[in-house]
Amino acid sequence: MCFKNRNKFRIITTLIILACFLLVLPSKAQAEEDVVIVIDPGHGGTNLGAEPGNFYEKEINLITAKAMKEELETFDGVTVYLTREDDRSLSLEERASFAANVNADFLFSLHYNMSQNHYFYGAEVWAQSAGTNYVSGYSFGTILLSDFQNEFGILSRGVKVKVNNRGRDYYGVLRASTELQIPAVIIEHCHLDHQADANYISSAEMFQTFGKKDAIAVAKYFGLSSKVSGLQFKEFQKLVPKTPSTPKIQDHTPPEQCTVTLNSYDASSGILHANVTAEDKDSGILYYSYSLDQGATWSGLGIWPSASNHVSLKAEIKSPTAPYLLVRCFNGYDGMTTSQQIKYY
Ligand SMILES: [Zn+2]
Repeated sequence: MCFKNRNKFRIITTLIILACFLLVLPSKAQAEEDVVIVIDPGHGGTNLGAEPGNFYEKEINLITAKAMKEELETFDGVTVYLTREDDRSLSLEERASFAANVNADFLFSLHYNMSQNHYFYGAEVWAQSAGTNYVSGYSFGTILLSDFQNEFGILSRGVKVKVNNRGRDYYGVLRASTELQIPAVIIEHCHLDHQADANYISSAEMFQTFGKKDAIAVAKYFGLSSKVSGLQFKEFQKLVPKTPSTPKIQDHTPPEQCTVTLNSYDASSGILHANVTAEDKDSGILYYSYSLDQGATWSGLGIWPSASNHVSLKAEIKSPTAPYLLVRCFNGYDGMTTSQQIKYY
């Protein structure tokens, strides 16, 4: 090859390489910018999830997940996958591996709750217990739960962690995601077996509405905007806790304090006023209830005002069986302490 030809060859080669870069770069840059979200509709196949009566949790998780995906896809720069698009069995590890295989930035596992004794109501988010994954889970969870509270009035049961006796994440999908270094949370939207949450789940549309709200919380968390809807969360300020130096653990102890004092009792009207004082330094007080028959039956759970150590209790006693009042207080992890018994007349 003569010198002139060699130069020509170099120029052509450079142009070809440049052209290749120009072809590859935009799509590569786009792919790198895209936030990758994996939505995991909990349960499926033979794993039914909660069974409130007329449907299975696995079905509504899928409805919510599809609505969440649809809403999230209206935002720019986001790629969304579902771990399952139909009714099939998937192990918890398979769900996490799916997220790892698509290089997910976050895995959201969607669920609805029921409690064993049917006492509890409200929404909660379970986060991974350690490091930056905890920070991500906490940060996202506070956005979602405050949206649920402000827009639907659903009680926030908090962003929580739970570890097993080996100090690893208790919930399998979180544990498997931790091992694969994927930030993940479990969203428990509300309780299917409690009247207080029944309003939110009275129509099939609500399961979609939940999914849309989940998507908005994700958009806020990642600071996404949408040309389609005009929603813009670039400036959204999220709460970012300090990265814990050691893994967080759940609250194992019941409330330290739950005491009741009588203010007044009027026998003619049957109206009783009392003051309840309670404290739980680890996870706070969430609910309280009272009994007027020495603990045989209990009132429904009242919401404990956050950031307060007391509530005023008013009860109407129609036909007193025994003149005693008992109160119990529940912390953020459903741990319970019963007050002393007081005689009200
Ligand atoms: Zn579930």
